[in-house]
Amino acid sequence: MDKITAKQIEAVLLGVAVGDALGVPVEFQPRGTFKITDMTGYGTHNQSAGTWSDDTSLTLCLADAMADSRASGDLLRKTAGNFVRWVEDAAFTAHGNVFDIGISTSKAIHNLQKGLPPTKSGCADANENGNGSLMRIAPLVFYVAGKPQEQRYEITSDVSSITHAHPWSVGACFIYLEYMLQLLTGKDKKAAYLELQKCFQDGRLNIGNNTLSKFGRIIRMDISSLLASEIRSGGFVVDTLEAALWCFLTTDNYRDAVLKAVNLGDDTDTTAAVTGGLAGLFYGIEAIPTGWRESLARYDSFCGLAARLAKKYG
Ligand SMILES: [Mg+2]
Repeated sequence: MDKITAKQIEAVLLGVAVGDALGVPVEFQPRGTFKITDMTGYGTHNQSAGTWSDDTSLTLCLADAMADSRASGDLLRKTAGNFVRWVEDAAFTAHGNVFDIGISTSKAIHNLQKGLPPTKSGCADANENGNGSLMRIAPLVFYVAGKPQEQRYEITSDVSSITHAHPWSVGACFIYLEYMLQLLTGKDKKAAYLELQKCFQDGRLNIGNNTLSKFGRIIRMDISSLLASEIRSGGFVVDTLEAALWCFLTTDNYRDAVLKAVNLGDDTDTTAAVTGGLAGLFYGIEAIPTGWRESLARYDSFCGLAARLAKKYG
């Protein structure tokens, strides 16, 4: 793997944020009732164009903690502390207010506020597998890069579990990050996908067979061969991972990938944020339309954070 650059880190952070912001005005709108082709404002949350939501705020919470800590105990504590600051002080927000928060995330942060440690705060029931940890996990790829598999899994599990501790949520985060690691080696996205599948099929990567069976359409089939009608875009974490991979693999540039994600409808901002992390990493910062990047609320803070991370992980 080549040296990680500030540009790559910036591309992941901005890739997530731009996807999120494109989706915010149409979050919860059913598929087929709208078509987004550019950055817009208002709509569902009545926010100005370029406003990103909880997906990006929580991504920034993690990235900021990563910039300050290399030991994983520190990382967990600082990330959890940032989540609390987000809820209590509107830190890491676009305009100084929290206008959206997931149910499990809210419950878990409440547990942190009550004094539970980040290893005990997360929701762990099968019906608490929303996409709330997957949507904020992208920067962790730079933290786990170069570490052995068991450690990569353990760290990913710990970071997901601050809010989402069920194996399906952890598994989705792990598969997503392992795919990003494949992309970081410089492979084409299709070759990287085939390699990811092979690694899980022959046991080089392991999340347990029960959990893996939940991701059969990603690991055993070619997710990109499915029709749009077979791709779900609600809040279930497995659906979101499938949708993001599908959008990324069936387009050939950043813009089309995230617009495809938004236009799937329903959980538009999160599907596009998760897609945007992959597409940002693979196509690079220049592929994210300048107008979209610069329209983001607090645009400069993304570049500053990327530079801090590059000092540690570059
Ligand atoms: Mg959101």
